[in-house]
Amino acid sequence: MGKGFFHVPTAINEPIKSYAPGTSEREEVLEQYRSYFNGSVDVPLYIGSEEIKTGNTKPMSPPHDHKHIVGQYHVAEKAHVTKAIDNCLASRSAWADLTWEQRAAVFLKAAELIAGPYRAKINAATMIAQSKNIYQAEIDAACELIDFLRFNVEYMSQIYDQQPDSAEGIWNRVEYRPLEGFIYAITPFNFTAIAGNLPASAAMMGNVVVWKPSDSQVFSAKVIVDIFKEAGLPDGVINVVYGDPVMITETVLASPDFAGIHFTGSTHVFKELWKQIGNNIHTYKTYPKIVGETGGKDFIVAHPSAKPQQVATAIVRGSFEFQGQKCSAASRVYLPKSLSEEILESVKKDIASFNKPGSPEDMSNFITAVIHEGSFDKLAKYIDQAKKDDNAEVIAGGNYDKSKGYFIEPTVILTTDPKYTTMETELFGPVVTIYVYEDKDWSETLKLVDGTSEYALTGAILATDRYAIDEATVALQNCAGNFYINDKPTGAVVGQQPFGGARASGTNDKAGSAQNLLRWVSPRLIKETFVTPIDYRYPFLG
Ligand code: NAD
Repeated sequence: MGKGFFHVPTAINEPIKSYAPGTSEREEVLEQYRSYFNGSVDVPLYIGSEEIKTGNTKPMSPPHDHKHIVGQYHVAEKAHVTKAIDNCLASRSAWADLTWEQRAAVFLKAAELIAGPYRAKINAATMIAQSKNIYQAEIDAACELIDFLRFNVEYMSQIYDQQPDSAEGIWNRVEYRPLEGFIYAITPFNFTAIAGNLPASAAMMGNVVVWKPSDSQVFSAKVIVDIFKEAGLPDGVINVVYGDPVMITETVLASPDFAGIHFTGSTHVFKELWKQIGNNIHTYKTYPKIVGETGGKDFIVAHPSAKPQQVATAIVRGSFEFQGQKCSAASRVYLPKSLSEEILESVKKDIASFNKPGSPEDMSNFITAVIHEGSFDKLAKYIDQAKKDDNAEVIAGGNYDKSKGYFIEPTVILTTDPKYTTMETELFGPVVTIYVYEDKDWSETLKLVDGTSEYALTGAILATDRYAIDEATVALQNCAGNFYINDKPTGAVVGQQPFGGARASGTNDKAGSAQNLLRWVSPRLIKETFVTPIDYRYPFLG
């Protein structure tokens, strides 16, 4: 603590820019997009003060134009990972001892850099790397990352402010120490904001970090590194390595100084990580903190009292924005028979109004490409199977083409089996499966919603009947960490809807909340007694 109880600037959500035709932000981002698209970036590993080019490189291509190369990144070998850990440990004490307001200032400055001079860069990089249309890039890479940084600084100061009472003659105080060791951040492809937040939230609390971004997000991860560097983050606080996730992870988890993992990605990978940590438990100097936000099979359930047009819009936005590649995307829907025809007609009409999937550079495209060939092939396989199965029917979309980009048409599968495979399995793409129930079976349907999936991330109920809303809120209590009433199940905003799910969807440490930051500290209680006793005898002994 410096010489004052400093108040941090009040965090407010970053306003979303419109990018409407004729706006300066639209021109700026398109210019940056073209510059990146026609350029060639060479992304090194960032370890300590070094930018390491290993010579073992992998090309980077936009998912919507996969034969076009926009640069390359250098792949780490085991020695680089060890070096990243060593740099963490060498940087730890200076960073951990820095006064909190100096750490706060680095991340507040990063937020302002994103809001200003880096906004077009981080958005254009996200459009290229992850094939997001400009609106999806803006709400993720610019606004959500800014919000994470600003709100987490505010939460950090609130945490430090939490102090115990002190009885007469003593003073109790708690200091929130960073963990003793280093943190391993593993980030997914789908949100630039998550990629920035997982290492930053731990670092903000005074920790040092080895960060492994997703191979499919390195292009935009590099902009995050540029921003943190310009914001003045000291070398060695966040060390960045890419490459074989298994080798990198084995090396990191073998270190006795491994103190915690901050993961977002798929459920299977997280469960394997947990197992590896368990197997190594006797190696570690401290019990590692394990934080993971993972998969989802998110639902929309409409009650017969719902308004059909609202349900249709929730389905179209909730299932298809960013090609359904949000962990919160609606992918199983339950419609009452009395409304189903009207809702499905409206959904089909909306889908017919989309352009064919294409490049985000064409701003009239709502739907762009899915992330990579593996994802494309998986989605195509499930769509083909649905076309063959007797208990399923593809009623919209169903076409795909990977000749130029990994394009999958927004697809609606109607099933007569509420446990049909695509009602249960996370596909992570623009495919939604719909089951129509008899209106009289509403309460039974809620049990189906609760019991169908191993996940419990997000879900939405649409209804006008307040008793139905109440019944669903209770019945669906454990199957969504983020529950929406009369809204789509996506679009959580930092500072307003802290995000995370339970069951197989993660440890629910709510990204963008004080609860998450608390995982990255180890409180030390200090009790000071002002007049220290000098006689062991208590009065009762007399
Ligand atoms: P992924 O699990 O394939 O990859 C995530 C990260 O783990 C990447 O950095 C990847 O390289 C790494 N990884 C992969 N295999 C590994 C291994 N064996 N050991 C160590 N690391 C490994 O996930 P993805 O495709 O990047 O992202 C999509 C998934 O993330 C979906 O399941 C989605 O639901 C989930 N997700 C969840 C949330 C949430 O908040 N719950 C948010 C975003 C994404």
